[in-house]
This record gives sequence, structure tokens and C-alpha cells, in this order.
Amino acid sequence: MSEHSEPVGQQPSGAAPTPAVARCGEPGCDGWPLEVCAYVDSRGTACRTHWCRDHGATVRGQSYCRRHAGTIGALGSKANNPRALPDVGHRGASLVRWLYRDLDPTFTRLLESLSSDRDHLLRDNEVAVARDEGGARRWEMSWKLASPAGVRVRISLAVEEADDSIVLVRLGDEVVASGTPPWIEARRRGERLSDEEDAEQRRQFYAFIGDYLTQALQQST
Ligand SMILES: [Zn+2]
Ligand SMILES: [Zn+2]
Repeated sequence: MSEHSEPVGQQPSGAAPTPAVARCGEPGCDGWPLEVCAYVDSRGTACRTHWCRDHGATVRGQSYCRRHAGTIGALGSKANNPRALPDVGHRGASLVRWLYRDLDPTFTRLLESLSSDRDHLLRDNEVAVARDEGGARRWEMSWKLASPAGVRVRISLAVEEADDSIVLVRLGDEVVASGTPPWIEARRRGERLSDEEDAEQRRQFYAFIGDYLTQALQQST
């Protein structure tokens, strides 16, 4: 992006202060759009979608669309840093938090099976932002098994800036599994899954990640 590009997030002069939007952004909802999503990403691009009372969300006193309520909630205190905020269309932060919650029971069991009396398990409550050597961001959460001497095992889930449909599972610095969650695949193909199909595909995806991680842990210990 050029440093001299137009500033974003400003109304052109003479424009009405509030665009006339007659509908909530939720497909099929005729609700009166009261709320405008307050999300502005690290490049200064605003979401500006409109939502009725039922389909918007409030986080710490601000109104957001549901996607950005998820992003702000996932980043927690880090959302105060504009450099931590993913692009408006990027689902990385909230996806990492979803997967972390779903995988937590399995990963906790795996790490507890490796743990000695002197170890303790450290979990993250918020999504963190890390950068690679080239400066590209990734959003990640981790589990750590720590002894008094330091962190013995670190497992992390990450979604990179370059592709927000792929989740990477690392053991230490090494990627041991990566893939696209099945509900994202289904949406791309335009498929609507039944609740049973969705649950089964999630179960298989999490089992696939768990299997690769188990193998990698066995090889590393
Ligand atoms: Zn609505
Ligand atoms: Zn939004």
C-alpha cells in the first residue's frame, strides 16, 4: 500500500454523516439497523456494516457486527493496540480462539499425560499477535508445559495473515499439522451441512489434528 494513498475512514466532504441503510446486514432480516460496526483495522479500514439490535453485538460498550465482536473478544486486552487488529475481512483472531476452545480438552489431556509432579500447564486466555521475519502477522494461542527450569513443551494454534482459512498447529517452532476447518470448506463450496454432518466433520478434523500432534509428541520425547 502506498504511503500517499487516500486516508480511509473519512467521509468525503459534503456527504451525509450517516449513510441511508434500510436493512440489517443479516440475510433475511428486516430489522431496523440501529448499530454500525465500530471496527477499524490496523490499516485504518472500517467495517461500517449496519445491524439491528438482534444481530449486532456489544463488547466493552462498543457496537460491532458479530464477526468483529468475535475478533475484539478474542484479542481481549490486546485489542487496545491497533497493530494487533486483523484486516476487516480477516477471521484469524476469532478462528484461533474457537479452535483453541474446541481443542482444549484433547490437548490438555495430551499434555497432562506427559506431565510430571513438577510441571504445570499454562493456558492462554487471549489471542496473541506474533510476527515472522518478514513482518507478516499471525494470530495464535498456545498451551505450555512448564517445569521450574522453563517451558518444556509448547503447542500453538495459529492463523497467518496470508491465508485466514488455514490453521497451523506447531509443536515448538515446527508445524506438525495444518488444514482448513471443514465448516470453512463447506461455506466455500456453498454447501449447507446438517447439524449432524457439521458435528461429524468437526470431530474428524479435530481427531486428525490430535493424531498428528500425538505422533509428533511421541517422536520428540
Ligand atoms: Zn437483524
Ligand atoms: Zn464489523
